Amino acid sequence: MKTKEEIAALSAQFEAKTPQEIIQWAVDEFAPEIALSTSFQTQSMPLLHMATRILPDIKIFFLDTGYHFWDTLIFRERIQHEWNLNVVDLYRDSRWDHFARQNVRSLPLQDPNLCCYIYKVQPMQKALSGLKAWVSGIRRDQTSNRAHAQILELQDDGLLKVNPLLNWTKRDVQTYMADHQLPVHPLYERGYRSIGCAPCTVAIGLNEDDRAGRWAGRGKTECGLHTDMFKHKELAEVKDQFVMEPEDAR
Ligand code: SF4
Repeated sequence: MKTKEEIAALSAQFEAKTPQEIIQWAVDEFAPEIALSTSFQTQSMPLLHMATRILPDIKIFFLDTGYHFWDTLIFRERIQHEWNLNVVDLYRDSRWDHFARQNVRSLPLQDPNLCCYIYKVQPMQKALSGLKAWVSGIRRDQTSNRAHAQILELQDDGLLKVNPLLNWTKRDVQTYMADHQLPVHPLYERGYRSIGCAPCTVAIGLNEDDRAGRWAGRGKTECGLHTDMFKHKELAEVKDQFVMEPEDAR
C-alpha cells in the first residue's frame, strides 16, 4: 500500500505517460480489484476501447438512473454485445424507493444534487467499496473542477482513483475515435455532445462548450462523482437520516 506522498510522486511521473501506459500500470497493480465507470456517451468510447484491450473482462460500472435517454440505453446494449463487455448496472438503494416514487418527476429539477446523490453517488460509492482502483474518463479541459484533478488520487477510504485521460483534449478524443473507427452515440449529431440523464441534458450549438448542455441554466456542472460530494459522506448521512427509510422498515 503506497502512501499519499508516493502516489503524488507517481502521479506527477504519469503526466508524461500515455493513457494506455497508465491503464496498464493500474491493471498490473490492482486487477481484478479494479473497475471502470462509463456513461456510454461518445467521449466515453476511447477509454472503454483502451481499457478492454488491456483487460477484456474489466468490470464496467454503468449508473442506470432510470432517467437516461432511450438512445443511450440502446447504444449501451449494442456496445456491450458487440464488444463483449462486462457491464455491471448500478441502481439506487431500495431504501429510497418510497421517496423516489413520490418525487420521480420533480426531483431532477427541484433538487438535482439530491437526485444525483441517490442515483449516482451513493450507488457508485457502494459498488467501489470492495475495490482498490477506479478508472474514470474525466479530462482537465471539461470543467473548472476537473482542471485541478490529478492522474492518481488516493481517497481517504484507500480507493485509488485513476484518471488516464486527464491530459487529453477534445481533439485527442476525436482523433482516437477516427483512428479506431469507434461508434458514436446516436444523439451526438443532433447536438448532444455531452450526454447525461434526459431531464438534465439539452442539445447545444456548434460554438458552445461541450458540457453547456448539462444542467443548463441551473448553476450545476458536476453530478458529484468527481467532486467533494463523492469524497465526503457527511452530507449523505444527513440526507439519509431525513429521507431514507430505515433498513428494518423495508
Ligand atoms: S443527472 Fe439529473 S436525472 Fe440524472 S441523477 Fe442527476 S439530477 Fe437526477
